[in-house]
Amino acid sequence: MGEQGPRPVRPRISARASYLIAPLVRPNRLYRAVAARLERMPRALRLFTGLERRGKEALYGCRMCGQCALPATAYACPMTCPKQLRNGPCGGVAANGDCEVHPGQRCVWLIAWERAAATGHDADLALLQRPIDQRLRGTSSWVHYWLGRDEGLWTGAGTVDLGMPRVRP
Ligand code: SF4
Repeated sequence: MGEQGPRPVRPRISARASYLIAPLVRPNRLYRAVAARLERMPRALRLFTGLERRGKEALYGCRMCGQCALPATAYACPMTCPKQLRNGPCGGVAANGDCEVHPGQRCVWLIAWERAAATGHDADLALLQRPIDQRLRGTSSWVHYWLGRDEGLWTGAGTVDLGMPRVRP
């Protein structure tokens, strides 16, 4: 049987915790050196990519698109949308918030909105995500991130606060 299509995933880790953890993987000299080294060592890169997959799959339902949108979507993975929409929900969301393709499961974009609103990151959802490069599927988004390839993944790159959850007034 082939790979199952995406289904909306409610992250198993809160947005608040995700924003707290995010600074730990922010690019720095060490991570850049590690990423560059990994790219020269295919076996090590495969191992690292496998670990990334397991961790992010367990926490976010990651589908290894290779160009991580999580920092701009309140850490709800848009690739778990059955239509893989990266710029908000389709027009088919049910009145109760259920996914059109998988009734009984909440639309991942509503989940993203609720997580963003709860942490003061509502404005992030107005950013426009550019289309992904399909050639990067299955590759390590952390390596791309550390090597600066994610710049321009969404409009206003650099305006997303990757750090602490904001306290609502
Ligand atoms: S790398 Fe892509 S598929 Fe994985 S969590 Fe990030 S956006 Fe979702």
